Amino acid sequence: TPLFPMPADLEQPELNSNAETVLVKRYLRKDEEGLAKETPTELFWRVASSIAAEEAKYEKSPWKPEDLARTFYDMMINGLFLPNSPTLMNAGTPLGQLAACFVLPVPDSIEGIFDSLKHAALIHKSGGGTGFSFSRLRPAGARVGTTGGIASGPLSFMRIFNTATEQIKQGGVRRGANMGILRVDHPDIIEFITAKECEGEFNNFNLSVALTQEFMEQVEAGESYELYDPRDGRVRGRLEAAQVFDMLVQKAWASGDPGIIFLDRINRDNPTPAQGEIEATNPCGEQPLLPYEACNLGSVNLASFVTEDEKGVQTLNTEHLAEVVHLAVRFLDDVIDASIYPLDDIAEMVHKNRKIGLGVMGWADCLYALGIPYDSEEALELGEEIMDLVQRESRIASRLLAEERGAFPTYEESVYKKRGEGPYRNATTTTIAPTGTLSILAGCSSGIEPCFALSFTRNVLDGEKLVEVNPVFARFVERTVSDPAQQQAILDHVRRTGRLKDCPDAPEDLERVFRTAMDVSPWSHLAMQAAFQRFTDNAVSKTVNLPNEATEDDIREIYLEAYRQGVKGVTVYRDGSKTGQVLCTGEGA
Ligand code: UDP
Repeated sequence: TPLFPMPADLEQPELNSNAETVLVKRYLRKDEEGLAKETPTELFWRVASSIAAEEAKYEKSPWKPEDLARTFYDMMINGLFLPNSPTLMNAGTPLGQLAACFVLPVPDSIEGIFDSLKHAALIHKSGGGTGFSFSRLRPAGARVGTTGGIASGPLSFMRIFNTATEQIKQGGVRRGANMGILRVDHPDIIEFITAKECEGEFNNFNLSVALTQEFMEQVEAGESYELYDPRDGRVRGRLEAAQVFDMLVQKAWASGDPGIIFLDRINRDNPTPAQGEIEATNPCGEQPLLPYEACNLGSVNLASFVTEDEKGVQTLNTEHLAEVVHLAVRFLDDVIDASIYPLDDIAEMVHKNRKIGLGVMGWADCLYALGIPYDSEEALELGEEIMDLVQRESRIASRLLAEERGAFPTYEESVYKKRGEGPYRNATTTTIAPTGTLSILAGCSSGIEPCFALSFTRNVLDGEKLVEVNPVFARFVERTVSDPAQQQAILDHVRRTGRLKDCPDAPEDLERVFRTAMDVSPWSHLAMQAAFQRFTDNAVSKTVNLPNEATEDDIREIYLEAYRQGVKGVTVYRDGSKTGQVLCTGEGA
C-alpha cells in the first residue's frame, strides 16, 4: 500500500529524555552503519500512515486514510495511545511483523518440537514473544517407539528453546521472551517446578504451572491426584495435591518462579471454544491464546485524560477516553491486516479470530493526579468503572467495525453468537499489558502497577547521574504545601529515599496518596488485579509485590485468594528474593 507524504504542518512529538533515549536506541530505523535514518516524527508518521492505509480497502469506512493517519499520529504523539513495540518498530517496513504475542504448539514428536523451535526463532527475530505449553510431550523415561530408546522429557527440550533464544537475542532488537507452561498433572511436574532453582537456568523463560479447578479442590480437601501420560491418558503416578501446592508456594517465596495460571478460569473466557482449548499464554501472561494465534496490543494512557479546571480540580475526561478507545480499536483492527506474519498457520488463525488487546497504562499516575490512594476502596471502584468503560466502548467499536467490514470469521461458532451478542469484528478486545517500554515512551507509570518509586535516577550523557522526582508528585506538593521550606524538605526526602515513608515533614494525607509498590499491601495489589480482570477479555499483567519479611503462609493465602477472586494467573515477587538463588554446578548449570 502506498504511504502518504508527511504533511508539513505536523505537530512534533514532545519526548522526555528517557523516551528519547529509548526511541533512538531501539525504535528508530537504522542504516547499515547503525545510524538512525528517521526522526521521531518520521517514525510516528510511518506507523500512523501505514496502519491507516489499510482503511482504503474497506468501502464502507467513514475515514479518508490520510485524515485517519493524522488522527492516529496525533493520538500517539500526545501520549494518549500507543501500540505495542513491534508495531512501532516494524510498521511500514519490509519485515512488517506487528504483533507482540504468540502461542505455538509443541507436539510430541522430534519433527514437531523442532518446527516449533524454528517458528519461535522467526518470531523472536521480529520482536514478538512466544508462549508454549509443553504438556503434550511424553514424560522423561517414556519409551520412544521408533528407536526403542528412552525419552528425555519436556525439560530437556525446553533447555534447547532457551539456548536458541539466547543466540537470537544477540541479533535482534528486542529480548526474545518465552513462556513455558506445564499442566500440574504432567508426570514431570516436580522437575518443572524446580527448574529455575539454579541461577541463570532457563533465563529466557517465564515458567507457569497450569492449575485446574479439580486440583485446587484437591488441595483444599487434602487429597492426592493422578499424573497422566499425555499420549494415552494412562495414569503414571500420584502426588499429594497439598504437597505440590506447598512446593509452588515455597518456590514463589524463594525466587518468584514459577508462577501459576488457572487453566479452567482462562478457558471459561475462551470466546471460540470450537477452535480448541487454550493451553498457554504469551511471555508475561496477559494474553491467553490458542496454538498459532497471535495478538497485537495497544494501551491508552489514563494519566493523559486527567484534566484540571481553573480552580485546580482534577477530573478524568471519560468522554475523551471513550473517543480514543474507538479510534484505538480501529487502529488495532487495521494492524491485523497490515501485519506480515512469520508463518501461514499463524496468519490463518489470526485472520479467523482477529483478537486485539486494548489496555491501559498510567493508572498509578492517574490516581496520583486525582489524589486517590492506590490502596483504597475508591481506587478499586474507579478502576472498575474505567475498565468497564474501556471494555464496553471497545465492544461497541468492534460491533460497528463488524457492520463496516464483517464479523470475525469464526463468530458464528463463538460464545457471542450463542449469547445473542454482536456480531463483533474481534473475538477479544481487551488485555492489560505490562507496557514496559510503552510507558517509558509515554512518560507514565506502567500498566496498572503502582509507581515503583517517587524519584528515579537518570544517567546523563557524561556519566553523571541525575535524580528526578515524579512530576505529578512534584506538582501536587507545589499545589498543596504552602511553606516553601517544608516543600523543599519533602522533595529532598523523596530524592534520597524514593518514597514518602518516614518523612517527618509530609502531611499524612500526602503520604496516604503517594504510596509506592512497596508501601502497598499484597492484598491491595491482588484486589487491583481482580478489579481490572472483571472487565478484561484476556488477562491482566500484574506483579503482587511482597516485603522481604513476607512468609510462605502469606504467599499461600495470596494464591488461595487469587483463585477465589477469579484472576487468571498470579505472579508474586518478594523483595530481594532473587538474590537467594543458589549457584549450581554440574548438569544443567
Ligand atoms: N515482549 C517480548 N520481549 C520483550 C518485552 C515484551 O517478547 O522484551 C512481549 C511479550 O509477549 C509481552 C508483550 O510483549 O508479554 C507485552 O510486553 P510490554 O507491554 O512490556 O511491551 P511494550 O509494548 O511496552 O514494549
